[in-house]
Amino acid sequence: MEVKKVKKVVILATGGTIAGLAGDVTKPHNYASGQLSVTQLTKNLDATGVHLIQEQVCNIDSKDMQFSHWQTLLERCDFWIHQNDVTGLIVTHGTDTLEETAFFLHAVLKSSKPIAMTCAMFPANVPLSDGPQNLQDALDWVLKTQENGVHLVCAGQVHFAIGVQKIFSDRSNAFASRQESSLQTDTCALKLDWSVPSVAQVLITQHCPRVELIYNHSGADGQLVRTLLEANKKAMSDPITSATQTSAIEGLVVAGTGSGTLSHDLEIALEEAQKLGLWVARTSRCAYGVADPDKHPSIPSLHNLSPAQGRVAMILGLIARRAA
Ligand code: ASP
Repeated sequence: MEVKKVKKVVILATGGTIAGLAGDVTKPHNYASGQLSVTQLTKNLDATGVHLIQEQVCNIDSKDMQFSHWQTLLERCDFWIHQNDVTGLIVTHGTDTLEETAFFLHAVLKSSKPIAMTCAMFPANVPLSDGPQNLQDALDWVLKTQENGVHLVCAGQVHFAIGVQKIFSDRSNAFASRQESSLQTDTCALKLDWSVPSVAQVLITQHCPRVELIYNHSGADGQLVRTLLEANKKAMSDPITSATQTSAIEGLVVAGTGSGTLSHDLEIALEEAQKLGLWVARTSRCAYGVADPDKHPSIPSLHNLSPAQGRVAMILGLIARRAA
């Protein structure tokens, strides 16, 4: 008897370990990401009663994720979430930069449908392989959840996009977040001092604003910032050198110590950057840190965002500013 297809779910594959293969299955850490196609990934998925649409967006190690990949993925997500008969989306992705893509998609799409990102820590052909279960869990979550927006489904847990971080590099349960569900939104809500661009504004962006990360640490003297500023003077007068990114730095996100604090010398160097027109904002380098807005009032806080997600937030703010 033919099963009635009732729900349409779209899988967009981008690569990562979930699509990776080890040359020797007894050495699970020695493998290449992004080897299997989306149809190979879903071969053993139980999608009974589901009309599954599958697209290969790219097939890369997520350490190599670029703004142009984000744009392609954003365009496909935007297209599919606006199809009335689509229940939700699944995005397969490498774990290394998943939190950045998750933030980007969540902030720009403002999706009223569920989007499950999923991944694996072990390649597809080794006995420890965790990808098939994660993919199954992602599909099951999309089919039953009442929640919207981007979440990560991994190792039996569901993490909201804002605040999720990879905290282990060697175990299947690699991610942590402030809450496992967006139902408690108080500490994982998106608080930004600038606007987020529309999907259209992101898609027409030819050159991703360059935003660099700076780390506060014992003995941080601001010299790295001054070196960047010196190089920036030249870059600002040069033509754009890369196809997707401007060569001049437009923003700096600082991973501050503790509650987003800065050494005295680093603070002075960052204020010099502000005087030259760069956007500068503070995060905390603590896994669950919050940058206290009152600590260095001249340098805005990115509140609860991690340095990696804070950098994406600033890129989006700069795109929105260009479009204003
Ligand atoms: N290097 C891999 C990636 O991010 C790691 C993973 O997927 O676990 O693509």
